[in-house]
Amino acid sequence: MMDPKTLTMAGAAQLLAEKQISSAELCQAYLDRIAALEPKVAALLSIDPEAVLAQAKESDARRAAGKALGPFDGVPVTIKDNITVKGQPCTCASKILQGFVSPYDATVITKLKAAGMVLTGRANMDEFAMGSSCENSAYQKTRNPWNTDCVPGGSSGGSAAAVAAGETVIALGSDTGGSIRQPASFCGIVGLKPTYGRVSRFGLVAFASSLDQIGPMSKNVTDSALMLDLIAGQDERDTTSLPAPIPEGGFAAALKDFQPSLKGMKIGLPKEYFEVEGVTPGVKKVTADAIETLKSLGAEFVDISLPHTKYSMACYYIIAPAEASANLARFDGIRYGYRSPNANDILSTYQKSRGEGFGPEVIRRIMLGTYVLSSGYYDAYYVRAQKVRTLIRKDFTDAFEKCDVIFTPVTPATAFKFGEKSDPMQMYLSDVFTTALNLAGNCGISVPAGLDPDTHLPSGIQLIAPSLAEDRLFKAARAFELTRPQKAIVSPL
Ligand code: GLN
Repeated sequence: MMDPKTLTMAGAAQLLAEKQISSAELCQAYLDRIAALEPKVAALLSIDPEAVLAQAKESDARRAAGKALGPFDGVPVTIKDNITVKGQPCTCASKILQGFVSPYDATVITKLKAAGMVLTGRANMDEFAMGSSCENSAYQKTRNPWNTDCVPGGSSGGSAAAVAAGETVIALGSDTGGSIRQPASFCGIVGLKPTYGRVSRFGLVAFASSLDQIGPMSKNVTDSALMLDLIAGQDERDTTSLPAPIPEGGFAAALKDFQPSLKGMKIGLPKEYFEVEGVTPGVKKVTADAIETLKSLGAEFVDISLPHTKYSMACYYIIAPAEASANLARFDGIRYGYRSPNANDILSTYQKSRGEGFGPEVIRRIMLGTYVLSSGYYDAYYVRAQKVRTLIRKDFTDAFEKCDVIFTPVTPATAFKFGEKSDPMQMYLSDVFTTALNLAGNCGISVPAGLDPDTHLPSGIQLIAPSLAEDRLFKAARAFELTRPQKAIVSPL
């Protein structure tokens, strides 16, 4: 019997190909689960069940006519609310975009539609992707399917919770400083931040353009690779996308009939990451166990150093807000989105629309960003941060002379309770292990590594590879996944 909770993209494709299930039946099963679980989880900001079923029926008709658009024709996928789908709402969980309907498809959506996938709902997030818990959503609190008193992480927390609760097969998120990997770790799923430029950002509402990347959030590593195969590629509408072909046959092909062995693979342990204060004993235990598992697979561990890591948070919180302050200037109450009814001239329209439309964290970031870009401080903060960024990037280049992949925790602790991190600095520290590679531009994956023995919540490990070496991540992560207890990823809901 099909279990929507554990069904993967590969599994769904097989059921559809063997005609064991139709897309309409598959999508109905997810709609039923969504109806049953959303009152508890609140992962989705919007969903149009009729539109879902209409897409599913079109898919079934194509398949019946022998014209399926590929193996994933008819498989459901959930999209973070900052990626545009023509005709669907796109709020970025902000009041300023309440009621906004996207006029065009993001490139990743064009690709998913070309593969026949069924778009099922818009996932909650921190407003404009700024946050680590989804508590910054202007609309609702998404709950962690493992413990509904806890946050799902963020900013792609709705995508993570939807996958972990089995409300969907797979989801897309975006990662600017950790927003795919941290919620994936909190919810016990796989989250990939592809190399900067691997996936087109056209149609992703920009937060920090030099850091943002779209990526898959999935139930296993194979699905992550399958999804990357679908969405990767250069795009003339995103000039930062790279002319980097995916390996012959695709990333997922290499995982077929896969023998879990990591003989010959060198994994670097960056000493600075293990000196970070505030890592809980539970996360330390999970990571230590994971190292043993990887060793048992034949991997060789080597000590490495990423000496500028300690500056990555400071650097990120200058560069990301600087770019955000420029990107968010377009929300002015004139062209689209919220316009304050309390304004009476052009200036008060800007001021009041933005003041009332943006939430407190977004306002904090815009203020930080405009400050570090202002003429008196530009050199001291922004230019300096860019220099540090170069050093952080060089750290990785040097480290990859000694190893193939780098191993770190994803985040210092497992999911926390709502309201627990009221101080923004505390919240920012959730990303202490994840921001460096957004700054450097290379790729990383968060893989579930089991339950924290103290909190009984999922904890992931992070594997990091050089730019465009996602294949190494998939290989190590898949080998790891195949050797750890399966029950670790199935949330209790
Ligand atoms: N939590 C980080 C922030 O608040 C990262 C967010 C993200 O990756 N979008 O900026």
